[in-house]
Amino acid sequence: MIARHVLRARNSLGQNFLLDLNLTARIARAAGAGPDMTALEIGPGPGGLTRALLDRGAAVIAVETDVRCLAALEEVGAAHPGRLTLIHADALAVDLPALAPPPRRIVANLPYNVATPLLLRWLGETGAYESLTLMFQKEVADRLAAGPGGKAYGRLSVLVQWLCEVRREFNVDRAAFTPPPRIMSSVVTLTPRPRPLAPARRGALEKVTQAAFGQRRKMLRASLRPLGLDPDALGIVPTLRAEDLPVEDFCALARALDDA
Ligand code: SAM
Repeated sequence: MIARHVLRARNSLGQNFLLDLNLTARIARAAGAGPDMTALEIGPGPGGLTRALLDRGAAVIAVETDVRCLAALEEVGAAHPGRLTLIHADALAVDLPALAPPPRRIVANLPYNVATPLLLRWLGETGAYESLTLMFQKEVADRLAAGPGGKAYGRLSVLVQWLCEVRREFNVDRAAFTPPPRIMSSVVTLTPRPRPLAPARRGALEKVTQAAFGQRRKMLRASLRPLGLDPDALGIVPTLRAEDLPVEDFCALARALDDA
């Protein structure tokens, strides 16, 4: 397919294609793709994962920015009449929930250059999705899943785990991609929680985590001082560092910031 449509991978578009049918089937299975749901696929490229989602009976709406991929994707869709809708657009500019009624699941081998901005955007609309099964650089997947007490635990861990349960699916070796990226990848499934782990306003939680992890070597007493927050007053040990603090405590700090 890649050769026939002359789809030379472009670095600027984060193009590392997956051609291993076992692997694409495994991702589609992890995503829970089936006849009773719509899979919103971001960056289908030449359509390897798209085909696996269609093979499981899902309706697929695929958003691809690279016009060169569209003819290949139309071929994939022709084998499953009426089940593949192609949207030629930048995923950052698309209102995904407006594309299909629920239940919807996001499934994507994400372009690494826009993976985090896309994720942060979807966090603002988690109620719209049953799940998000996403391939990231392994290092990003480590951060999403990390608990307190380690280097990988950071802002992204707190913001994501506040709203979603995070399940590590499996790692994917560089050699599985064409062309191989420089680093290992990992598939992760995020399942939105029925309600956030603890009450907080997202804007306040963003401010608190930015202050705390922005100076992660400092004790909370010092890193939170610019926000006028005193961890001691909330029963939080002020000599702890950001990486020691569970999500619920960050939520308490966010509420205190709003109260102040
Ligand atoms: N899903 C395919 C696969 O697994 O082989 C391709 C994955 S490749 C890592 C990322 C894909 O996202 C590419 O096809 C690229 O053109 C597309 N892409 C990059 N930036 C995008 C954007 N802003 N919106 C939509 N698609 C984008």
